[in-house]
Amino acid sequence: MSSAATITSIDCLRVRLPFSHGGPAPMFAGKPRTTLDTVWLRVHLASGLVGLGEAYAADLDALVSILQNRVAPLAIGRDAGDLTLTTTLERTLHNMGRSGPVLHALSGLDIALWDLRAKLAGVPLHELLGGARRKRIPAYASLLQYNGDEDLVRRTTAKALTAGYTQVKLHERTVAPVLAARAEAGHGVPLMLDTNCAWDIEGATDALVQMREADLFWIEEPLWPPEDLDGLRQLRDRTGVSTAVGENAGSLHDLLAIAWTGAADWVQPSALKCGGVTALQRVAAACRDSGVRLSPHCAFFGPSFLATLHLLAAYEPEVVVERIFVDLAHIPYARSIPFERGAFLLNDAPGLGADPESSLLESPYVS
Ligand SMILES: [Mg+2]
Repeated sequence: MSSAATITSIDCLRVRLPFSHGGPAPMFAGKPRTTLDTVWLRVHLASGLVGLGEAYAADLDALVSILQNRVAPLAIGRDAGDLTLTTTLERTLHNMGRSGPVLHALSGLDIALWDLRAKLAGVPLHELLGGARRKRIPAYASLLQYNGDEDLVRRTTAKALTAGYTQVKLHERTVAPVLAARAEAGHGVPLMLDTNCAWDIEGATDALVQMREADLFWIEEPLWPPEDLDGLRQLRDRTGVSTAVGENAGSLHDLLAIAWTGAADWVQPSALKCGGVTALQRVAAACRDSGVRLSPHCAFFGPSFLATLHLLAAYEPEVVVERIFVDLAHIPYARSIPFERGAFLLNDAPGLGADPESSLLESPYVS
């Protein structure tokens, strides 16, 4: 039976945000990267209400195809208030892949569903996630890769601190730029390093020993493959450096296993990859109960970023959210969710708290 909360259609936007990080275009998946790309989706209800979601996309066209041809036909006609909808669809589609693009598409749908549920209730999303303990969410500056260029790393670290960030993460793979960033930041500023799975256990051990005076707050994805949880445990035992992992976890269940086994000190679910707000809530609960720390992966700027902020608003202890530190051709939600003195400020508008600006939707960055 149709009601005001019945899903009537889903449409997809391919969002390609040009960015500059002040150096040569960083490599991503074997190619220089000049835009940060995700699929934004709009879920329309019979009432006319619209929910926004965002899905990770290894390929924008492929993801849109999965959303339009596989996910939308199953979601249309269903009630957006049904809390089991995402997991039901995950089960229906499980033969098409338990991880990867199908799960990414469902993640985007789930974020839109939670936006809609909060809008239907007339409350900000954080209220449905347990209530806001804070509406000011501190952020750390996540610098992209400068390929070992010490001067650029040093200057960009200084720029991030001047912009108000109080923590900095690097994406470098060698010792010198890490020591340069520490020298620039001084002691007391948490400094993290993410190698995106660059090393083996011996290489990681050597590098971390040489970086000891950088006093890393955590080492993120130090090992290939990222599933090598025994290696992560060994590395922590050998070096004493805290470890972080999770953005490449295949599914919610892999993330829960990291938390429950204590394989890493920090677990990093990515809302737009691992199952949306529904999955993020499960990982957050596992962290709360296991003592492993929560630090969501946030490499994009759309509805998935807002959804993560809402979850963190309701989570205890306070979590410092990742923010990719680049100059964007358009900063989504710059006015509605402003960044001030090192933190993003949530509001009490229903849902995610902001709809995409017409200046973005009508820009050449969206198709
Ligand atoms: Mg990372």
